[in-house]
Amino acid sequence: MPSMNDQKLWGELESIIVSYRRMVRAELHGRWEKWPIDLEKREMYEVIGALLARQVTFSVDFAGAPEIWNHHLAPVILRAMIDNYINLAWIFGDPLDRSRKFILYGLGQEKLQIEHYKSQLQADGRNEDNDPVVKSRESWINSQRYTFLTEVSIGSWSGIDTRTMANEAGCIDMYNYEYQAYTAASHNMWHHIGKYNLATCPNPLHRHHKAPIAPSSAPDLDYLFEVTNLVGRTFKFFDDKTAVAVDIPSAFDRLVQDIDDLGMTLEKTSDSERPNISHEDDG
Ligand SMILES: [Zn+2]
Repeated sequence: MPSMNDQKLWGELESIIVSYRRMVRAELHGRWEKWPIDLEKREMYEVIGALLARQVTFSVDFAGAPEIWNHHLAPVILRAMIDNYINLAWIFGDPLDRSRKFILYGLGQEKLQIEHYKSQLQADGRNEDNDPVVKSRESWINSQRYTFLTEVSIGSWSGIDTRTMANEAGCIDMYNYEYQAYTAASHNMWHHIGKYNLATCPNPLHRHHKAPIAPSSAPDLDYLFEVTNLVGRTFKFFDDKTAVAVDIPSAFDRLVQDIDDLGMTLEKTSDSERPNISHEDDG
């Protein structure tokens, strides 16, 4: 990464990230500790808790992987995170019923995949009875002890599309302006690949046709801010819905402050020592 080659700066950024990862996990656990659990509705707490943890996983792993803070991969992560946010928001509209639907649909999908896998084993002339993958996946399904489990549903888990869910959950702006914006990258559409995976051929006789490229990109801090901010927004949404109040510093606020401080320190030293973090490709 030639545009971020100052080891000292990178080291400082790295320690900021280590601290972020620790703090954002503490935020998750703090909320879980403060949320009074009603075991009669355990599926609701488990689904909501797991969706919240999923959001934290995204940001913890993303923060630790600067090589994907770029327009090739960050939008794929961001779109999945917004999808997660919309699911969570929609579930809060009728938490117990929708959590159950969410579980039922997931179990149905898992059963379907096990069946596909068994068919593959049979086609390969292998015995499915003692297959460790089949055993492990089936035992996960059988370990589910929810009393409401009577049937397995196939189809969309919510019965409606993401746009309708976002609309019902009061986050249509997030769907329109963020989710949609990241769709091009997630679905590898022309308005993504045409910009990022083609370059004009240098041969003047070739009438400016384009040729495929797979460039690496320098880490872009804006994507780190977007991902970590999204977790902060998810926590805020959770707090508003559950009235859980935690006295834990925001990992996102701290990250912004730390990077800001780092920038200020850098300005006092020398411009040339600042990490060049931008949308520019490195080749
Ligand atoms: Zn050419």
